Amino acid sequence: MAGDEMKEEKAYCRECAGERRHDVLFSHEIEHDYNPEDFAFFEDTWAMLSCRGCDTVAVRRRLATDHHYNFNAEELEPDISIYPPAPPDHAISVPDYDLPPRLRRLHREVIDAFNEEIVTLCAAGLRGLIEGACLEKGVKKGPVPLFDDAGNPKVDASGKQETKIKKNLEGKIAGLVVAGVLGSEGAAHLHELRFLGNEAVHELAAPSLQELKLAIDIIHPVLDAVFGQHTRVESLKALKAIRKKKTKP
Ligand SMILES: [Zn+2]
Repeated sequence: MAGDEMKEEKAYCRECAGERRHDVLFSHEIEHDYNPEDFAFFEDTWAMLSCRGCDTVAVRRRLATDHHYNFNAEELEPDISIYPPAPPDHAISVPDYDLPPRLRRLHREVIDAFNEEIVTLCAAGLRGLIEGACLEKGVKKGPVPLFDDAGNPKVDASGKQETKIKKNLEGKIAGLVVAGVLGSEGAAHLHELRFLGNEAVHELAAPSLQELKLAIDIIHPVLDAVFGQHTRVESLKALKAIRKKKTKP
């Protein structure tokens, strides 16, 4: 029905990130009982499409009724849905870090949650990633700057700001700076993210996408520093070992 006999149609390809020509691998029309008084016609067709550029497969639904007829343009404008749907404009992709399996899963979920705008779980996952990076680096605490009740820095007799060693997330982020994993500017930005300050998920303030994006932008270089470089060194060692084996008589 309505164009499905054709073996090709244009549709959004999530891999090519744009409209591409697709082969129609299969199509099927679902019969609905509808009241002829409500609709003159009712077409619900589903098709499996394959992108001609990259072979990515998607499912397309086209819903067309007489209500979809645009009388000004004198043409049918059916509702087209593609599954999986096109990612939202703010979507980010998962960088290619070789994270330990547990953190890799969490990292993937954090990015998925961000892309799907599931903000509270994204924030909770970001905390988990920071905790994981600390664990990996053996960072369990760090020096947190002290402030008086008016919010002014507490200074000692020599004019230096006083600090206290703390084991909470604030302390751990400070510990990452001491360990040389995170720059002090990055740490300051992380501290600014109010949602990271709450220990329990039920206390999390709903963060904005902008805040989450900032946190992800700060955390990615940290993950790369903690895990990416380590993995590259390990790969280099493995390659060296293979080369040694090969050159042995
Ligand atoms: Zn494609």
